[in-house]
Amino acid sequence: MGLMWLIVGIITGLSIWILFTLNKSFTINWIGWTGLIAGIFFILFAIAWSVSSVLEGVPRSGSMGAIMFGGIGLITLVLTWRFKIQAFKKNQNIDKEIGSEKIIEDTNDGTTSRRKFLGLPALGALNLKYVIGSVVGLGAVATSAIAVKKAKGKILDDVPNTIQDNYKRMDQRGVIQAFAHSTKLQEENKNWVDAWETAAKKRGKDFKVKGSYEKFVYGNPRDEVGYRQLDYALARGGWETSIKSISVTVAPNQGFQYWDQSEVNKNKYIFNSKTEAAEAIKSAAKLYGSDKTGITVHDVRWDYDPLYDPIDEKVVSWDDFPFKPKTVIVCLIEMDYLALSTAPAVVTDGTSGQGYSDMVVVASHLAAFIRHLGYNAVASGNDLGMSVAYAVAAGLGEVSRAGWLISPDLGPKVRICKVYTDFEFVEYDKPRDYSITNFCIHCKRCADACPSEAITFEDEPTFGPTFENSDDPDYNWSSHSGVLKWHSDSKKCYEFWTENGGSCSSCIAACPYNKPDFWHHDLIDTSNVVLPGQAHYIMKEMDKVFGYGNVNDPIKVGKFWKSGS
Ligand code: SF4
Ligand code: SF4
Repeated sequence: MGLMWLIVGIITGLSIWILFTLNKSFTINWIGWTGLIAGIFFILFAIAWSVSSVLEGVPRSGSMGAIMFGGIGLITLVLTWRFKIQAFKKNQNIDKEIGSEKIIEDTNDGTTSRRKFLGLPALGALNLKYVIGSVVGLGAVATSAIAVKKAKGKILDDVPNTIQDNYKRMDQRGVIQAFAHSTKLQEENKNWVDAWETAAKKRGKDFKVKGSYEKFVYGNPRDEVGYRQLDYALARGGWETSIKSISVTVAPNQGFQYWDQSEVNKNKYIFNSKTEAAEAIKSAAKLYGSDKTGITVHDVRWDYDPLYDPIDEKVVSWDDFPFKPKTVIVCLIEMDYLALSTAPAVVTDGTSGQGYSDMVVVASHLAAFIRHLGYNAVASGNDLGMSVAYAVAAGLGEVSRAGWLISPDLGPKVRICKVYTDFEFVEYDKPRDYSITNFCIHCKRCADACPSEAITFEDEPTFGPTFENSDDPDYNWSSHSGVLKWHSDSKKCYEFWTENGGSCSSCIAACPYNKPDFWHHDLIDTSNVVLPGQAHYIMKEMDKVFGYGNVNDPIKVGKFWKSGS
């Protein structure tokens, strides 16, 4: 990348020299200058875009960028040269018409005199070209300022996902992974099992709830790129820390998610200010591996109730929690872009599993840090509360159409862990509107890519699910109604995981927000926040044209396996 910016810098210097030379030979008016600068800008942009795209391994985006932005640049330069520069060679007496403005130029001595026929003497005195130039310039500066400000999100008082009066906290027994892992829950709720298996049969699936968990967790290697022993070994390696510490991450008070508080330091560390406390917590989280951290007030609306431990097969009450939580610290862990792009191959499980293992490390280390400051703290993965809701409350992103979080800078390729604590002398983050929901309304790319048709195509978010059988309580036990969001049929998703022999992530891989860390993607994400709805539809289509978000591509598996060198 350094070399690319050096080349762009050299070309920029060269362009300035050419403009300087042109200015000696030609009389260039403001339209000419605008055309020249815009043309050069687009060509430089095309070069930077194309080189960056090739470096990130998407040559199609590189050639599209060269054709589109380079083409606009060249056309602008040619038209500017033809109509606004060529005819204005110095040492000629020129009498030209420019729009409504009649100009007589006598440039033998290098000066220009113009007679203006503006009709309005007052405006003429102001010099129309400078007025227009200033307005355009100020407009560009204001638009950039708004874009940068909006990229940081509009601060909200509460999460943007409105809650209805009949909203109930989510029963953790209805979480698919908890239910699928728990023989006891399946035996106690035979009507749920029957309704699920009947619906699956109607979809043409030979699906049985019993034994399904092992099918996607342990899968069987086969002779297919993305599902070989090599690929499964990658997945298993990624899960190692997670599996060895908590075999099911939804299980409260298990492994590193333990509730024991006996190590809490008797001396309470006192911070000088809430800002200092927030900075210290986020710095510690970063050190332990969090890519982005937010701090929010503990909010029972987002906690499961009751909790369920599918390992010891028991309902767990909040009354047994060791302290009254005041604060929830939320950490995002970025997953590997290349591994995710192989979706739905089991290579994606390598980065999902690694994400879960990192969740264990980050949350447990951060909880220990808080305890050694003298305050109660419990590490949490997918237990205790809904991670996405807490991340939204902590201003880290928005809930997407597919149900997972989209963070404005990390996109959807994140895992989320949390720390519950009674420490409250801290500066809290607020939820923010990053225009992501607005983008999802016009996008639906995840729904198109989903092999199980689990993701809804509804235009707008709803307060409850609208998928087939959602009116049947024996089928619909895993949905969470009463909150405004898109509701997916997570059972269909889970069925595909068991068929696939590993989790899927096609929805994440297809999402236009899923990009590696390159300047041109940041630029597009920033522009998305100021663009209106229909433009989001065009941006989604452009993302396809530029070659991003394709799934089921074995070539990407090969690319991943060469990414380490
Ligand atoms: S993980 Fe796969 S099956 Fe599940 S919702 Fe996403 S795309 Fe669909
Ligand atoms: S693919 Fe499109 S609709 Fe789906 S989550 Fe991403 S931005 Fe939203």
